Amino acid sequence: MLANRTTLTQFLIEERRRHPDASGDLNALILSVALACKAIGKAVAHGALAGMLGDALSENIQGETQKKLDLLANEVFLRTTEWGGQVAGMVSEEMDAPYPIPAQYPRGKYLLVFDPLDGSSNIDVNVAVGSIFSILRAPSPGADAAAGDFLQPGALQVCAGYAIYGPSTMLVMTVGSGVHGFTLEPQLGEFILTHPALEIPQATQEFAINASNSRFWEPAVKRYVDECLAGKAGARGKDFNMRWIASLVAELHRILMRGGVFLYPRDTKDPGRPGRLRLLYEANPASFIVEQAGGASSSGRERILEVIPAELHQRIGLIFGSREEVERLERYHRDVSPREYDAPLFAVRGLFRATNPG
Ligand code: MN
Ligand code: MN
Repeated sequence: MLANRTTLTQFLIEERRRHPDASGDLNALILSVALACKAIGKAVAHGALAGMLGDALSENIQGETQKKLDLLANEVFLRTTEWGGQVAGMVSEEMDAPYPIPAQYPRGKYLLVFDPLDGSSNIDVNVAVGSIFSILRAPSPGADAAAGDFLQPGALQVCAGYAIYGPSTMLVMTVGSGVHGFTLEPQLGEFILTHPALEIPQATQEFAINASNSRFWEPAVKRYVDECLAGKAGARGKDFNMRWIASLVAELHRILMRGGVFLYPRDTKDPGRPGRLRLLYEANPASFIVEQAGGASSSGRERILEVIPAELHQRIGLIFGSREEVERLERYHRDVSPREYDAPLFAVRGLFRATNPG
């Protein structure tokens, strides 16, 4: 069964041999995260049988109702990674403040940030969910991390990855030398390298956006989506497909597998929130992975990996995927002033112009 197959452990050890100065702490941390993902995947797979579906009686810092599995997944991440001496602190979607490493364990040289269960509203309907994480260097190795230590631009990540709990469980990650996908062999409990050196196709005919927010979109995004919808007869001269799974991890995975562009752009729905997704533990790891696979990732205005975070749970508009599409969207953000573009339905050629001249 293992003939010509590489396990995650073997892959990490071979990577490390190319960096003779590496201590092995990063590998140990990644393997602990992989164990967390296996445990979460098992709980997810048991579904209703595990008694873990439904809401917990609490909200997270973002004011979102927490699912029982959100809290379980968070506990699993903490318990598998806190003891090993590799981390100096952790930040999670499910905790307001950084998690301090318990007194009895040594502090390490890395920071771990994660969304322990992404797309958790999919859980109750048995649709794919995931976990996503990012590893940074601790500015003060061996000491407790302060909140400010986590506010590093994504370009400084040393590792980013996600697990997707779908028909099969996969772990996909980068340590800065390409993106590699591993599939869980459930009987062995081992992640096996099945998708080495993933590359996102440069061009695509598939986009993903929550169209129910279209009335709040900025002009650049409206223009882009209108042109996709216009298909062969429109400015793009080709037909597009649309997808929406409502899980960042699942969207990211599809785009890694076959290309596409994902948009959760900044919009005007809630002026206090410049975007929906969280920079530190969603946008940053997704962007590191996408860039390492040859794609691009942007807020529409700047490269995500260069954004300097101001807050732990900061949100940001996120556009990533096939390079040509992301570059086009950046161009539209630069070019289109809010007055220059009206959605076609309301423009000169549009349906409502005659009755609605204003
Ligand atoms: Mn999430
Ligand atoms: Mn989550």
